[in-house]
Amino acid sequence: MKPEIRIGYGWDSHEFKSGIPLVVGGVTLPHSKGLGGHSDGDVLLHAITDALLGAVAAPDIGSLFSPSDPKWKGADSAVFLAEALKRVKAAGYSVVNIDSTLILASPQIGPHTEAIRTRVAKLMALAEDCIGIKAKTPEGTGTDNAAIAHVTVLLNASAKRKTARRNKKAR
Ligand code: MG
Repeated sequence: MKPEIRIGYGWDSHEFKSGIPLVVGGVTLPHSKGLGGHSDGDVLLHAITDALLGAVAAPDIGSLFSPSDPKWKGADSAVFLAEALKRVKAAGYSVVNIDSTLILASPQIGPHTEAIRTRVAKLMALAEDCIGIKAKTPEGTGTDNAAIAHVTVLLNASAKRKTARRNKKAR
């Protein structure tokens, strides 16, 4: 029997590069540098995507959306997140909540936390109080030119599956 709840964990990092926009959690932030990468470099959406995929034991983001595939060049990372959500649904689960920690020297995330929370909640069709967004500076890690994201996600069996299970029990 499939478990009622499942946990997922995702991690990602991208290097800062000049001349590209900085996109974090689907929000473009004012900054002199952006995050390099084959897609739009959205470190937070990539970590959320991997957490969701991991929770249902699906292949990871790099396997599904190969960085060597020209199709994903400059891609909006919301596309990756949408695919992961589709796989979660297909596995019979829905998302309860996510929690995240961003680690970067600059810019300060604090002034943008609510905008990021709102955008991620919309992309995931979740209430804003189910989206944890925390940020820290990388004290002593020597990663001032990178942005790192850690994400955990909790899933529970979707209502449809619960009903099916109840009906089975009743029989
Ligand atoms: Mg990435």
